[in-house]
Amino acid sequence: MIRPAAGDSPFAQAARTTWDVLVIGAGPAGSLAATLLARGGRRVLLVDVHAFPREKACGGCLNALAVEILRHCGLTHILEQSEAAPLGSFRLACRSQVAEWPLTGSVAVHRGRFDEALAQSAVAAGAVFLDSTRAVVLPEGGPPVLPDGAAPVRRVILQREDSRETVSARLVLCADGLTHSSLKRLPEFASQAASGSRIGLGGAMVDESADWPAGRLSMAVGDCGYAGLVRTASGSLSLGAAIDPGALTGEAQPVDVLEQILNQCGLPVPPGLAGMDLRGTPLLTRRASHCAGHRLLVLGDAAGYVEPFTGEGIAWALHSALLAVPLAVEAGSGWRRELEADWTRILRRKVTRNQWTCRLLARLLRSPALAGLSLKICRRLPVVPRSIMSRIGRSQPRLPPVCPDKPQP
Ligand SMILES: Cc1cc2nc3c(=O)[nH]c(=O)nc-3n(C[C@H](O)[C@H](O)[C@H](O)COP(=O)(O)OP(=O)(O)OC[C@H]3O[C@@H](n4cnc5c(N)ncnc54)[C@H](O)[C@@H]3O)c2cc1C
Repeated sequence: MIRPAAGDSPFAQAARTTWDVLVIGAGPAGSLAATLLARGGRRVLLVDVHAFPREKACGGCLNALAVEILRHCGLTHILEQSEAAPLGSFRLACRSQVAEWPLTGSVAVHRGRFDEALAQSAVAAGAVFLDSTRAVVLPEGGPPVLPDGAAPVRRVILQREDSRETVSARLVLCADGLTHSSLKRLPEFASQAASGSRIGLGGAMVDESADWPAGRLSMAVGDCGYAGLVRTASGSLSLGAAIDPGALTGEAQPVDVLEQILNQCGLPVPPGLAGMDLRGTPLLTRRASHCAGHRLLVLGDAAGYVEPFTGEGIAWALHSALLAVPLAVEAGSGWRRELEADWTRILRRKVTRNQWTCRLLARLLRSPALAGLSLKICRRLPVVPRSIMSRIGRSQPRLPPVCPDKPQP
């Protein structure tokens, strides 16, 4: 990890460089985009507000598409570094109803290690990574020097402890997750949480019980939310949950709500749950009003969020990074206004369109009665869950090429 040192500080150096691409957010979307662009010879600055390695609220499940994208990008070593364990089945419990289906191509990972390994891959490819650095994109402005009156760069404020620098980049990729806080000065990019949206809870715990075997993704649906659990290769148990914010009123703690969900489904409460470092998120389901602006593309969760079930969230984030790379390369040789519409169209066609099944499932799981009934139907007609599972986890027939040509000097 590159850390600013006294004297010759990479932070101050960043401000003196005009970057080809500034990537905001070192989650799966940002780090994959930074890796691929740095590999292609672009000068890439990757920044993240957190000190790395950092933990994240996540169930730690990657679906077949996510695994396929990593393979496509020559990054399968990331899986070994993040304690990946294959998942062979998906078990869904809703009150007294339980059903289990086979899963193919999915793995369980330790999310903190996964993101750390991916950020390291960007550094290994030649990107400069500044962690503990908050980015805020500035509105367009300043002296336009190009014949069409547009600015030749996008400017971003970077803040680290009590230092502050303004950096310039030919393109900014905003991959800063759910709240896309780096765009707070651009009101046209504001996103809105959907009504009835849930909040996320997640983390990893030490658990040696035999109740949660390796190789199985278990999901419990209760009255006020649902929780998924998987075991990684090192034996730790990852938990990801979405709960109604209203369930946390009064004395109720997040752990109590999770225990209640497991109890309602007759599932054992892992002994490590009470002491785990549980992380929360803001309201989950949201849609961004804009996904592109002048020399700015928004990707991953920052472009809109739908609750994932069997590892779709990271797959969508990685896929959007892969799709953004050709546009980022094109932007390096000059910005065309049409790139904004191109990106919005590509995202809609290749990512957002594939999210409707999860959107529908999220609605269904909101009503335990409806979810229980659906489970009954699925047990009678196994072809239904099989086709849903293959639809939400299916791999893309054609992934775009990953190594853009090095730019001409
Ligand atoms: C409870 C829960 C469980 C989940 N479980 C799963 C699962 O099992 N499988 C799955 O595939 N998906 C899961 N998801 C979804 C998944 O976590 C996201 O879809 C995925 O992380 C999106 O990646 P991203 O790169 O777009 O954003 P993120 O991973 O959120 O990364 C964004 C990064 O930007 C940084 N950042 C934010 N603001 C700034 C700023 N202003 N300046 C600099 N940096 C900034 C953040 O620190 C963060 O590191 C889960 C989500 C939740 C909430």
